[in-house]
Amino acid sequence: MFANSHKEGLEYEEPIFKYSGEAVARAQEIGSENVINGTIGALLDKGSLVTFAATNDVIPHLDVRRVSAYSPMDGFPQFIDAIRHFCFEEFIPSKPTAGVAVAGGLGGIRQAVINYTEIGDSVILPDWYWGPYYGLMEDNYRKIATFNFFKDHQFDLESFKECVADIAKKQASVFILFNSPANNPTGYSLDMEEWDLIFDYLNGIDRNIILFLDSAYLDYAEKEDKEFFRKLDNLDSNVLTIVCYSISKSFAKYGMRVAALLAVHEDEKALTEFRHIITLSNRGCYGSVNSIGQLMIMAIYEDKTILNRYYEEFNHWKSTLRKRADVFMTHIDKSLITPYKNGFFVSIRSAKPKEDVEALKKENIFLVPIPNGIRVAFCSIEEEQMERLATTINRVIGWRGKGERKQ
Ligand code: PLP
Repeated sequence: MFANSHKEGLEYEEPIFKYSGEAVARAQEIGSENVINGTIGALLDKGSLVTFAATNDVIPHLDVRRVSAYSPMDGFPQFIDAIRHFCFEEFIPSKPTAGVAVAGGLGGIRQAVINYTEIGDSVILPDWYWGPYYGLMEDNYRKIATFNFFKDHQFDLESFKECVADIAKKQASVFILFNSPANNPTGYSLDMEEWDLIFDYLNGIDRNIILFLDSAYLDYAEKEDKEFFRKLDNLDSNVLTIVCYSISKSFAKYGMRVAALLAVHEDEKALTEFRHIITLSNRGCYGSVNSIGQLMIMAIYEDKTILNRYYEEFNHWKSTLRKRADVFMTHIDKSLITPYKNGFFVSIRSAKPKEDVEALKKENIFLVPIPNGIRVAFCSIEEEQMERLATTINRVIGWRGKGERKQ
């Protein structure tokens, strides 16, 4: 065929659609109240996508000419200001920051990776990670180096340090990607003590470090979880922090493909370089970022009434998600799952994820297998189904593969 040698023979597969399609088919047979579909990674209300009326209502009032025109290649300045506010809130670091709009969080990760690593370099990730990172690295000729995320249900700092030390020996710079708080797929959030230990360690590394913070689910964690942004001030000048803030989850506008990268560093030269190279990559990849999404965020931020309404709706749905998770956590055998703190997902540890997923299907429970286990999307399951979900997992998975579970 015609593909280059890097892509030849590869096929695109979307496992979530496969498993969720099976759940929908089963629901048609036996009634949706009897089926638990925990496959979809978006906030759902009885199977329908949650959106926020406050955000939807501003869209028809946006200036059609501005919506239709290209946005600036690095994003509207007011959009970047608004994102700075939504992301950091009162926990903004006192070091200077610079922002560039990007096409979704995934677009932002791509722009950072290709600008701050060399072809063939490895990006450091915990061993439980969101699947699309793999395809992104692969597509851009990069590799992944993993450390053990957990030991005894806690962050495995020693494994992290070993991984960083190893990559620092091999590469001119070290790119570390954390998706915390409210990690996908585990629901883990690093606490302030863990961030302190990580930052102390990074300060002592004799290499340039890119600390990339994928904050896709940030707003679904507790407000205090944002406090680690203040701690970025404690990082030495060898560390450039890049925060990726997406509107997909926080504003329930997944398809708009709008996000921003916010760099934090004391040296203005590092920030100027960041602004130029990320903007050049926008120009060389997809062009400027969706105008309507940026203008929508600006309109929400600029009008206090709309802003308050948005926060009210957002907090309602955040507490709905929290209630779902609380019921699950009350009933689940904790030794079966990753240490959940907040967010859309938790994972069941499993040595045989595909087999376990099949066993759960017999109980009309549909979840997605991942390399180390099975992902449970709280975001798509109703609170009333959570007790049955947890007790069935205890019964069906509890006895399978005991002793073989991944930490
Ligand atoms: N990072 C994680 C961990 C995610 O789960 C997602 C979306 O599911 C993203 C980043 C990117 O989201 P988007 O590209 O829609 O902003």
